[in-house]
Amino acid sequence: MSLKINFDLRVQGEELPDAFLDSYELELMFDNTRRSLGAALQRKFSAVVCAEHAQAPSFTISGVYNNESEDMEIHYHVDTCCQYFLLRVMQILNQRA
Ligand SMILES: [Zn+2]
Repeated sequence: MSLKINFDLRVQGEELPDAFLDSYELELMFDNTRRSLGAALQRKFSAVVCAEHAQAPSFTISGVYNNESEDMEIHYHVDTCCQYFLLRVMQILNQRA
């Protein structure tokens, strides 16, 4: 089974002259985000497949760092073979650690 995780991390807005994070630091933050979120998903879903269709879930994680407000928004998009399995995946996703 293979867990599919796609990341779409990007920066929005003009970089401010006194930006808290420069573009190099942003790349590092994006790398860390990919690594830590990817590892967390792998850990939670390493043995999780749909009981009926034997399919693994796939995830798309979108992150937008906003240069003006200097904040980061993360969205999870979850794809599954069926609604029943989606419910199960969301339950697991919402469990703490
Ligand atoms: Zn299914």
